[in-house]
Amino acid sequence: MQDEGSPAPTRRADLIDQLRRLGRVDLAVIGGGATGLGVALDAAARGFSVLLVESHDFAKGTSSRATKLVHGGVRYLAQGNIALVREALHERTTLLANAPHLAQPLPFVMPSYRFWEAPFYGIGLKLYDALAGKAGLGATEFLSRSQTLALLRNAQAEGLKGGVKYWDGQFDDARLALALARTAAQQGALLVNYCAATGLVHANGKLVGLQLRDQETGEEFSVQAGCVVNAAGVWVDQFRLQDGRAIGRQTAPMVAPSQGVHIVVDRSFLPGDHALLVPKTADGRVLFAVPWLGKTILGTTDTSRLDLAREPLPFKEEIDFILRESARYLSRAPGTEDIKSIWVGLRPLVKPLEDDAEKTQALSREHTVLVSKSGLVTVTGGKWTTYRAMADDVMRKCFDNSLLAERTGIATGSLRLVGAQASTVKISDVPGLHLYGNEAAAVQALPGADRELGGGLTEAMVRFAVRHEYARCVEDVLARRSRLLFLDAALAASLAPEVARLMREEGIVEPGLEPFLALCQQYLHIPEA
Ligand SMILES: Cc1cc2nc3c(=O)[nH]c(=O)nc-3n(C[C@H](O)[C@H](O)[C@H](O)COP(=O)(O)OP(=O)(O)OC[C@H]3O[C@@H](n4cnc5c(N)ncnc54)[C@H](O)[C@@H]3O)c2cc1C
Repeated sequence: MQDEGSPAPTRRADLIDQLRRLGRVDLAVIGGGATGLGVALDAAARGFSVLLVESHDFAKGTSSRATKLVHGGVRYLAQGNIALVREALHERTTLLANAPHLAQPLPFVMPSYRFWEAPFYGIGLKLYDALAGKAGLGATEFLSRSQTLALLRNAQAEGLKGGVKYWDGQFDDARLALALARTAAQQGALLVNYCAATGLVHANGKLVGLQLRDQETGEEFSVQAGCVVNAAGVWVDQFRLQDGRAIGRQTAPMVAPSQGVHIVVDRSFLPGDHALLVPKTADGRVLFAVPWLGKTILGTTDTSRLDLAREPLPFKEEIDFILRESARYLSRAPGTEDIKSIWVGLRPLVKPLEDDAEKTQALSREHTVLVSKSGLVTVTGGKWTTYRAMADDVMRKCFDNSLLAERTGIATGSLRLVGAQASTVKISDVPGLHLYGNEAAAVQALPGADRELGGGLTEAMVRFAVRHEYARCVEDVLARRSRLLFLDAALAASLAPEVARLMREEGIVEPGLEPFLALCQQYLHIPEA
């Protein structure tokens, strides 16, 4: 276990060397998104030896592309799924306590334009408060027309009747993923990004290990594992199908991906620190406008698609929908020229399975854990907010299926994540050192502490990202250590050459400047048809 006092180094050569010498672990995890990182932390905190491999960067998949809400899920309440909401509300409290520098309460306002909306939604939200009980972040309030306009200064005033204010949470998803990775490392797990699982190793019909490849050098490794957890998000099926073939079982794909698009515009479109929620747009969808890191996020969509692109492109209809609906609720509405970034994520929605080769257990949440005949544990679905509860379920399945001998260890419910420190600066405010929590002083101790490159990013933060946060290329720094690609892709592109230069100084020979500049163009590209 590492010293908790100072930030641990994440030198690539050391990580790869540990991987070479690993031999066997109790538990190996495929995928470094919210789900896999949660499992790695839970297992390491229980004292198991753990390896997690991520083929790209931590949170490069869906886990950096969320709406950034830590929420109980008002939507599930409308569906009558009380147990699910209660659990998510519980997890919301846990996350806000264990990572207060990265997850905080956020007030929401639902403006109402029809006389029945405020009482209808308000009563539902009072029930939401009641379910939260002591975990409540603030009481739901009915607002007059003028109170609504005071909180949402750019709301469409015409036809406005009033509103309802309620509380949920918001977070920085990619930085939370890093905090999970680094906390898991503190608990003794080995986590390696840019290292792909390339195959499953079976012996006598049982899964006994993984084949791996260092994506930077092409070096191959083989690791034995008592238990393999497949947490590859929308990409889980490749391993399930491979597992099925190896043991002679028909296996049907379980993931039906659905794409969600967000666009980012200036904060002046949502001045103040309240989010706006439209529970039912003209065509029955949900629309959010959320203040985040000094900008406004508008979204999202839910469009099924068959391919599993790493960087999926938005459809024109999705951008049109977000802008059109925003214009109905904002008096000064953004146009395409106001878009600072567009990002697209894939939800791993789970199809009903009839395959009797696997025990399908749709748990009391939206996620699914499957254990195959060979012992491959697949977990997918769910949401960021409930990652910890999902991890707990995965461990339970491992114990129930005798893949691991039960251990209790440190309970993750009260395990504070790396950097945890309460802050008076809000997540919705311009990014800065507050996101580093109690590690801010360690960042400031590095060269270039006072040299801001732009958008709140300093030279010292770039150096910290390479030395302590597993950053390997410009995209890692500008998309997930800082969030500038998501906030303002043109600004990110303009800072990229200097970030690349600093990374070279930190010993990274090829920091991937050109591919990052191309990605910035993609995040600014507005589809035409
Ligand atoms: C548009 C949208 C908005 C959302 N908003 C919210 C929200 O506001 N709040 C909330 O709680 N939830 C939200 N969610 C849900 C949440 O983001 C997801 O549930 C969560 O991020 C899924 O995490 P994951 O780890 O399962 O998948 P991922 O984050 O995709 O992680 C899987 C990882 O596996 C890796 N991988 C794939 N193949 C391999 C391989 N061969 N070897 C090694 N690694 C591999 C991938 O690179 C990837 O990083 C949202 C989802 C979407 C799509």
